[in-house]
Amino acid sequence: MNHMDKTPKKYSVITIFPEVIEHYAGASILGRGQKAGAIKIEALNLRDYTELRHNQVDDTPYGGGAGMVLMAPPIYKAVETLVGPRDRRPTNTQVILMDPRGEPLTQKIARELSQLDHLVIICGRYEGIDERVREHLVDRTISVGPYVLSGGELPALTVIEATARLVPGVLGKEESLVQESHGTDETLEYPHYTKPADFRGYKVPDVLQSGDHAKIAAWRKQHSQKKSAR
Ligand code: SAH
Repeated sequence: MNHMDKTPKKYSVITIFPEVIEHYAGASILGRGQKAGAIKIEALNLRDYTELRHNQVDDTPYGGGAGMVLMAPPIYKAVETLVGPRDRRPTNTQVILMDPRGEPLTQKIARELSQLDHLVIICGRYEGIDERVREHLVDRTISVGPYVLSGGELPALTVIEATARLVPGVLGKEESLVQESHGTDETLEYPHYTKPADFRGYKVPDVLQSGDHAKIAAWRKQHSQKKSAR
């Protein structure tokens, strides 16, 4: 079956900055993947799901302290509008919270997530999100690294990009996945060079210009680092 025959893999991002997601998702590989019908990325404005005046979605933390916290009700409403209550969600759907305390994103997790039909991704902001979202609404929390960003939008885009490029029909040339870093054999990809062959006296290795495919393959293998060797 051709990938065009099936419904696109869908991403729904819940955020207070939908324009950030839309802009990035419209460019390059994600944009082409959407045009080709392999993926679909939608950004939902959290403010459309609040019942409070002035589109309020955040409030001060119980117990005091600095900053504002995103409230649970609009997030629950957005997620349940999309995929229903937690115990009756469609199969092959996951609701993910971007969270610096979450499980670190790896290529293995990206492969797992790339198999699902629908990912709902929640972006935090400010001091964070009411803990009841993490406790009772989401299936999984994911961190993009041991540092703190100001919002979940870049982390959400990181998850989308890492997973979408594994969906058939998204990358132009499928073989560009075959030899990649963190591929199934857990090696890091060999270094790449392109023209000019001599740039400020920095030369491209002779072997790569030799046309000897066996030698080139050997060089590349030698320069693909084992992860464990790092
Ligand atoms: N006060 C929180 C950080 C809030 S940062 C704490 O110390 O844990 C605001 C939001 O940005 C988070 O809710 C999360 O959605 C997002 N975010 C920040 N850093 C992140 C990271 N490393 N991985 C994933 N999401 C992150």
